[in-house]
Amino acid sequence: MSVLIVGSTALDSIKTPKAENPRLLGGSASHAAVAASFFSPVKMVGVVGHDFPKKYLDLYRKHRIDLGGLQIEEGRTFHWSGEYEVNMNNRRTLATELGVFEKFSPSLPDAYKSAPYLLLANIAPALQHHVLDQMWKPRFVIADTMDLWLNIALDDLLKLLKRVDALVLNDSEAHQLTKADNTVEAARLIHKMGPRHVIIKKGEHGSVLSNGDGLFLCPAYPLRKVLDPTGAGDSFVGGLIGYLASNRGPAEKNLRKAMVHGSVVASFCCEGFGLTRTTKVQKREIQKRVREIEALTKF
Ligand code: AMP
Repeated sequence: MSVLIVGSTALDSIKTPKAENPRLLGGSASHAAVAASFFSPVKMVGVVGHDFPKKYLDLYRKHRIDLGGLQIEEGRTFHWSGEYEVNMNNRRTLATELGVFEKFSPSLPDAYKSAPYLLLANIAPALQHHVLDQMWKPRFVIADTMDLWLNIALDDLLKLLKRVDALVLNDSEAHQLTKADNTVEAARLIHKMGPRHVIIKKGEHGSVLSNGDGLFLCPAYPLRKVLDPTGAGDSFVGGLIGYLASNRGPAEKNLRKAMVHGSVVASFCCEGFGLTRTTKVQKREIQKRVREIEALTKF
């Protein structure tokens, strides 16, 4: 079944202590769409400007991502730049230039409105609502977010939480949202805000799922070297929803395996700048890492 993904489509300039890479293909929707495409057909909603390189459109096409919902507008593409510290866990946003995103208010093509799986990737909550309003009856809706929206659009975000099946966020965001220091308690408080499934990411320490079945602890694939973690969270949730859409039965039944697949795609993302590594991954490499995680966690 197909997955509809809305989020940012960006040019990312990324600085690490060892390298600097300007204007790479980035954005939450780009990372999530490529990740999901390993498992399911993907439709993407976003906007780019006239400066968006054709080679990046070709990359989307290589992953058979349906671009019927990608608008190309007069103006500049959303540009984000960030810098990592030596340990690669701390990131500083240097600049966010909205460009054509400033006036973006998509009307979904009819073929998109019936998509059974919807990922509201990281973007302003008002835009996430706007897309959800147009959907007919999605089977499973996942929302992602970031600290910026907790700071400047909390009311919209809280309303969104009442409309989605699952929320994915990282541990510092969960702490900011609930004021709870403890992951289990934070998840309990987020359930009260709406979502039946809460997934809290903890970077290299994996992620935690909380739902009616209790807790599930999903490891991160153990990497010796991280080149650039930008987009790892988007790749995780993209791989997760792509895997869910590729399997029969209720989403609930496949969530744990879906998290492991998302975790593996995220590990590839960290091994290259932007999407450079992810866009070269073979399906069998993903399956091999999933088996390795299975072996690593058996006892
Ligand atoms: P992550 O590393 O998973 O947090 O995701 C990083 C991606 O988020 C980059 O590719 C950025 O282009 C994108 N991004 C950064 N800031 C924003 C924002 N304010 N809204 C939407 N996407 C953003």
